[in-house]
Amino acid sequence: DIPVICIDGPTASGKGTLAVEVAHALGYHYLDSGSLYRVTGLATRRAGLEPDAANEGRIAALAHGLSLQFIKGQVVLDGEDVSDAIRTEAAGMDASRVSALPAVREALLSLQKRFRRLPGLVADGRDMGTVIFPEAPLKVFLTASAAQRADRRHKQLISKGISTTLDSLRADLEARDARDSSRSVAPLKPARDARRLDNSQLSIAQSIEQVLDWWQD
Ligand code: C5P
Repeated sequence: DIPVICIDGPTASGKGTLAVEVAHALGYHYLDSGSLYRVTGLATRRAGLEPDAANEGRIAALAHGLSLQFIKGQVVLDGEDVSDAIRTEAAGMDASRVSALPAVREALLSLQKRFRRLPGLVADGRDMGTVIFPEAPLKVFLTASAAQRADRRHKQLISKGISTTLDSLRADLEARDARDSSRSVAPLKPARDARRLDNSQLSIAQSIEQVLDWWQD
């Protein structure tokens, strides 16, 4: 059995950083499942489509046919590095919209499962523990207060020279969380056997240590 660690949680909870570091510490592969929905959102816009239910079939076909590579932390779509293009707030909102469409989630299912390779996988997202890898031996549900998450995202964007306000970021992430939690398919929620980790008061190093401790149990 190939081991999997799932790290799920809301927007800007620090899942990505934590999952990358845990994967690194264990020498495991890493799946950033959100990037698949982000790329699908981008492909949808580039095809001139609105990311909504009226286009569900066409968007699912795009998701199914994505020509995607992950090269040294870069996301490459049809040979083009789209790492920056998929990280904007608008791309996050489009990702959230396409991800609410059942046919799109279905289209990305087998792609996600294929990331499970030896020696192991750390997967981050919203439904890693509930839908994609329900048999995973360790599932972590990561949270932090909305104020903390907005603040972290704000610092991230500022450091990249992107100007936004704390208020608009917080409104965005609360809107995204509300949609992600209330959708009919794979809503954001902890798996029944998930360990909860609130990192509002923890350093990154402390969060990594906690997950590695659980893994060694
Ligand atoms: O994690 P990230 O912010 O990159 O994800 C972007 C969007 O993709 C989320 O707001 C969520 O709607 C969707 N998503 C999802 N299921 C996942 C990962 C992401 O629905 N496993």
